Amino acid sequence: MDKFVDKELSGWGCFRGSRGHIYRPETVSAIAAVLQSRQETSYIGRGLGRSYGDAALNRDRGVVLTQRINRFLSFEQDTGVLSCEAGVTLEEILKVFVPRGWFLPVTPGTKFVTIGGAVACDVHGKNHHQDGSLSNFVLDLELLLANGQQTRVSRDENPDLFWATVGGMGLTGMILSVSLKLRPLETAFISVQYQRTPDLDETMRLLEEEDQDYTYSVAWVDGLAGGRSLGRSVLIRGNHAVVDDLSREQATQPLELVPRLSLTVPPQFPDLVLNRFSMRAFNSLYYRRLGQKPVNRVIDYDRFFYPLDSLRKWNRMYGKRGFIQYQCVFPPETSRAALVEVLSRLRQAKLPLFLVVLKRFGAETGSLSFPMSGYTLALDMPMLGGQLLSLLQELDQWVIDQGGRVYLAKDACLSAEAFRAMYPRFRQWQRIKTEVDPQNLFSSDLSRRLRITGVED
Ligand SMILES: Cc1cc2nc3c(=O)[nH]c(=O)nc-3n(C[C@H](O)[C@H](O)[C@H](O)COP(=O)(O)OP(=O)(O)OC[C@H]3O[C@@H](n4cnc5c(N)ncnc54)[C@H](O)[C@@H]3O)c2cc1C
Repeated sequence: MDKFVDKELSGWGCFRGSRGHIYRPETVSAIAAVLQSRQETSYIGRGLGRSYGDAALNRDRGVVLTQRINRFLSFEQDTGVLSCEAGVTLEEILKVFVPRGWFLPVTPGTKFVTIGGAVACDVHGKNHHQDGSLSNFVLDLELLLANGQQTRVSRDENPDLFWATVGGMGLTGMILSVSLKLRPLETAFISVQYQRTPDLDETMRLLEEEDQDYTYSVAWVDGLAGGRSLGRSVLIRGNHAVVDDLSREQATQPLELVPRLSLTVPPQFPDLVLNRFSMRAFNSLYYRRLGQKPVNRVIDYDRFFYPLDSLRKWNRMYGKRGFIQYQCVFPPETSRAALVEVLSRLRQAKLPLFLVVLKRFGAETGSLSFPMSGYTLALDMPMLGGQLLSLLQELDQWVIDQGGRVYLAKDACLSAEAFRAMYPRFRQWQRIKTEVDPQNLFSSDLSRRLRITGVED
């Protein structure tokens, strides 16, 4: 009998938690033993629980933590090919490989995720417009299937299963290990340019005309600005710095970081702090601290990619009710009108929008992967109850009407019908799921909510 702990879990948004039976295997063979025991009707893998909604939850069923399956397996210094177990975190990869001159090929906005979780969500980063999603750099995966078989999948070996697994939200099997190609690096710094834009049109114009000059590009949008200022932004764009770009002090140890002070938000943080007035003041200050001219800086990668990571448990700032991150993407032809509509509706709803981020995406990848060519908008909103849920439903319909979709790794509210309308390649994905997991041994709160199963209802 495998031991489990019955525990309340939630995603990063702390909304829609559920009790699960938590297993914490220490080895790959122990994972296989947990699954083979069939003690639970279903299991789901869980990395560091940084997906926002219910993707890594499995109410009253098995949740398999991968944190202890975290060994580096091999590394080729001349090619940058790293092979590691699925529970290795991005933080651990950076710590070991940046000093050797290698960087993650794609990184989300936090380093506190596992590589298995990142592959299962096929994460995108600030370089998606140039490099696409993480799966573009994954060479192969070792996957544990529902029938207990361990199999290698790649673009050449079992490619359909490979493309169903990247972005497949853990529903095709347990990812045991990942081989991926890292990016060579001369320094641990990024040459960044910050530039203010007065409105959405100028934001989009600059992103479209100049994105090819920057490996990393994103727009922080003042979500509370309206009228002619709707969509006014601070563009944050950067390239990896070479030694010549560094200050004398930075150049003494170009691949080393000065450790950052990290603070932890206490559990009883008052949720009144993040309100519409404090957010308006913050947004205005952030926007106005820049003048008309672009500002150039050379900052270390940690400050550039992971500004929120130094504030541990920052999700507590939203209080007990939690929060929602809504991330959607629109194809190029509908993007402008769609973005105006979404930003206007959110403004009218008078929500305290904390973070609104706009970015251009490149081509799409896995059959359930989120990115598609066009514009993606991500925004954080405190969970304010029924009114917010009906607004999100309206937004979902708007996203469908404009040919877009919502990101499953952030989602907590989508309906099964809306999911089907947004992910036209679901049927293709479902054929693979039916082949490898007809009994839905791998399922989650998300998969049941969206009826993402192997057999059609
Ligand atoms: C501050 C912040 C910023 C973020 N920025 C971005 C961003 O810029 N771009 C982006 O794409 N995402 C972003 N995310 C989302 C986050 O990167 C993804 O949800 C990430 O994959 C979570 O990794 P995890 O290890 O915490 O996985 P979990 O949240 O624990 O799990 C996520 C999914 O992966 C599955 N899974 C986990 N491990 C395995 C495994 N070994 N085998 C099979 N399935 C597995 C789970 O079942 C679940 O479906 C952000 C999240 C936060 C909190």
